Amino acid sequence: MTTQAAIHLIYLISTAFFILSLKWMSHPATARRSVPVGALAMILAIGGTLLYPEIVGYQWVITAIIIGAVLGVPLALVPLTAVPQRTALSHAFGGLAAGLVGTAKYYLWLGEHGLTPFRTGAIVAEIILGFLTFTGSLMAAGKLQEIIPTRPLTYRGQNAVNLALFAGAVAISVLLVANPEHSHYFPVIIGLSLLFGVLIIIPVGGADMPTVISLLNSYAGLSAVAMGFVLENKLLIAAGALDGASGLILSVIMSRAMNRSFRNIMFGAFGKIQSSAAEAEGKSVKSASAEEGAQILVTAQSVIVVPGYGMAVAQAQHGVRDLYNELTKRGIDVKFAIHPVAGRMPGHMNVLLAEAEIPYDRLFEMDAVNPDFPQTDVSLVIGANDVVNPAAHHDTSSPIFGMPILDAGKAKSVLVIKRSMNPGFAGIENELFYQDNTLMLFGDAKTMIAELVRELAKEK
Ligand code: NDP
Repeated sequence: MTTQAAIHLIYLISTAFFILSLKWMSHPATARRSVPVGALAMILAIGGTLLYPEIVGYQWVITAIIIGAVLGVPLALVPLTAVPQRTALSHAFGGLAAGLVGTAKYYLWLGEHGLTPFRTGAIVAEIILGFLTFTGSLMAAGKLQEIIPTRPLTYRGQNAVNLALFAGAVAISVLLVANPEHSHYFPVIIGLSLLFGVLIIIPVGGADMPTVISLLNSYAGLSAVAMGFVLENKLLIAAGALDGASGLILSVIMSRAMNRSFRNIMFGAFGKIQSSAAEAEGKSVKSASAEEGAQILVTAQSVIVVPGYGMAVAQAQHGVRDLYNELTKRGIDVKFAIHPVAGRMPGHMNVLLAEAEIPYDRLFEMDAVNPDFPQTDVSLVIGANDVVNPAAHHDTSSPIFGMPILDAGKAKSVLVIKRSMNPGFAGIENELFYQDNTLMLFGDAKTMIAELVRELAKEK
C-alpha cells in the first residue's frame, strides 16, 4: 500500500469513529464510551497527517504537541462547574489556530504567486470565522468566569454598528477575492474579524452564554471546513462539518428550550439586571430549619427534586442520593426534574445525578414532568433559581419572559435550598421564593441535604 493510500484509509477510519462518537454522545447510556472513541479518532487523524511526505522534520510538530499538552492538561482538570468557560477557551484556541493557518497560507501563496480566487475565498472564510471565534470565545469565557460583567453591555445603535462591521469585512473580502494579490486588504479583514468577535458577544447576557458557546463551536467547525479546503484535507472538511453541524443543532435545541430565537439571543441584550417586583411590593420570605423541612418531606407521598447550579457547586449530588434512599424506603415517589439549561452546561444535572447513581428512569425532562407538579406534594428545589422563576410565564417586562421553566411553584409545598436571597445566573429576582407555599431552607446545599438526611433518619 502506498503512503497516500494508507493516509486515506486512516482518515476514513478516523471519520467513521468521529461519527460514531457523536452518535454515542447523544444518549446517556452510551455517552461514556463515546469519549475514548472520539479521542481515538483524533489520534488517528493526527497520526495519519504526520505520515504526509511533505513533512520534512518533526521538531516543530513535537514542540507544538508539548506546548499543547502543557496548556491542555491543566485545562482538562478544571471542576465540572467551570467546563463551559473551559470549552469556550478551547474554541478560542481552535479559532486562533484556523486564523493563523489561513494567514500563513495566504502569505505563502502570495510569495509563490499561487493565489487563485477559490483559494483566497476559502482563506478569507477561514480567517473571518477563525478570528471572530477567537475573540468571541475569549469574551464568552471571560463572562462565564465573571472577569467581564455577565450582564449585557449595550449602547445605542449597537446592532447597526455590529452589522456594519461584518458587512465591511465581507465587502473587503470580496475585493480581495477579486484581486488576491492586493495584500493590504488582508490585515484589515483580520482586524475587523477580531473586533467583530468582541462586539458581537458583549451585548449577550450571561443566561444566554450556553447557546452562544455552542454557536461559537459551530463557527469554529465551519472555520475548520474552510481550512480543509485551503489545505486540501478531506478529513478536516469532514470533522469540521461534524463540529459545525452538531454545534448548530445544539444551539437550536437550547434556544428552543429557552423559547428564544437566534436573533433575539444575539441582538436582544437578554439578561439585564432587574429590580425585584416582589421586594418592591414589600413581600417577605418564610424560612424553615432542616428539622421542619424533614417533617414536610416525611409526610409527603410524592416529591419532585429540582436540581440546579447550586447543587453542582456544593457537590451535593451524593447527599441527594442518600436523601432519595431515605424517601423511597418510606414509599415516597421521588422524581427528578431536569431543565435543559440547569447548571452551567447542557446535560450538567444528568452527569451529576448519574455520578451519584440515581436511577436514570427517575430523571424526567421538563415537558414530561411539568404536568405532574400540581398533583405533587413537595417540590424540593436544590440550588436552582432561573429555571424555576415563574416570571418567565407572566411578567412581560422580565428578561426571561417566554423561557420555558419547571413549574416547581405549582406543587402543594415548595422547599428551596440556597444560601441567601442572591439571584441566579441571569441576575434577576425570583418571585417563587415569596410565594405563600414556599419555605426557604437557607444554607449550603451539601450541608443542608446532610442535615435533612440526619433528621429523616431520626424519624424511623
Ligand atoms: P442559577 O444560576 O439560576 O441559580 C443557582 C442558585 O444556586 C443561585 O441562586 C445560588 O444562590 C445557589 N447556590 C450557589 N451556590 C450554592 C451552594 N453552595 N449551596 C446552595 N445553593 C447555592 O441556576 P439554575 O441551574 O437554576 O439556572 C442555570 C442558569 O445558568 C440559567 O440562567 C442558564 O441559562 C445559565 N447557564 C446555563 C448553562 C447550561 O448549559 N446549562 C451554561 C451557562 C449558563 P445563593 O448564592 O443564594 O446560594
